[in-house]
Amino acid sequence: MSDHRIQTLKVHRISIPAKAVHSHGSGDVGSINVAILEMITDTGITGWGEASPWPVFTGTAEGNAAALHIHLRPHIIGQDPVQVEKIMNTADKVVVGHPEAKAALEMALLDITGQITGLSVSELVGGRMRESIGMSFSVANPDFDADMDDIAAMWQDGVRIFKFKTGFAGHKFDLMRCEKIRETYGGEADIRIDYNQGLPAYDAVRCIRDLEAFRPTFVEQPVKMHEREALAHISHAIDTPIMADESVFDPKGALYGAQIRIADIFSLKIMKSGGIRRALEVAAIARAAGIEVYGGCMFETGLAHAAGTHLMAAVPDLLLECEFYMATYYASDDILTAPFPAKNGRVHVPTGPGLGVKVDPEMLTKYAVEPPLV
Ligand code: MG
Repeated sequence: MSDHRIQTLKVHRISIPAKAVHSHGSGDVGSINVAILEMITDTGITGWGEASPWPVFTGTAEGNAAALHIHLRPHIIGQDPVQVEKIMNTADKVVVGHPEAKAALEMALLDITGQITGLSVSELVGGRMRESIGMSFSVANPDFDADMDDIAAMWQDGVRIFKFKTGFAGHKFDLMRCEKIRETYGGEADIRIDYNQGLPAYDAVRCIRDLEAFRPTFVEQPVKMHEREALAHISHAIDTPIMADESVFDPKGALYGAQIRIADIFSLKIMKSGGIRRALEVAAIARAAGIEVYGGCMFETGLAHAAGTHLMAAVPDLLLECEFYMATYYASDDILTAPFPAKNGRVHVPTGPGLGVKVDPEMLTKYAVEPPLV
């Protein structure tokens, strides 16, 4: 038991415009729409959390704000913030789904617990295996010339990992883009492919075999999230490693995925698993099954990215790096008081207590879509 109790919760819904529309096998995105949780203790400590849904993938910002404001609030106010599992276990019982709201809740609890103990979130969940992580940028602009300009700028910044979002404008367009980047940057570019469920299962193996000529490091989620057995079949048929993203959310999904050997890699996302600790459970199942993990994200601000770095810092082995590029290269602005720490193609795990980043309240006002829910 600590001497601290949660006294105030504020839920801020915000929308930050993107620098450019990004297209995916499952739709276009032009802004970052999230719910930010501000949690304050009776001792004056503030913790921050973020729910970053994607409606075609997980849930909605409105639904997550309501889950936090209406349904979870009575189970949070008055609680001891360091009793993280107790509060998260209750959250799982009183609200089904809404993993992004639960991720925001856990983020704020760990942020406060870190400030109380003087430890960073990665240390609270097991310790730091690394201080920085390589960063992948997602190439997803329907205007490929604009993307090539972005890639050139990022190459200058030291970024070498590029993930092509495919399956939204036809197979020929996908082949042309992979060919172009191999021609321009040669073998030094680490190319990955993400279909975001955009391939029809019946023809997926043939399409992926065509793209294998460009030596992608992995191919992500070619088919629909519920087509799990088809995904397992594709993974068996294709030499290039296949990654499950939409098909594996949480520990239960990871267990089934491991049983049918759904893929060679799982994308870990705190917004899918419902927090950092549940994502580490997914990583543990993957590790036991000989499945690699990767640090994925949704359309997030630097706040959720910071939480993601703490997760990926705590993963025992990490070969495939992460994609926490949104705050630096996609959003037109961020909500943090200092820029999200990304440089030389790497994101750096914040070192201060808790999440190690702070939200600027003025940014929450600037990008608010409605008054805070208090
Ligand atoms: Mg993905």
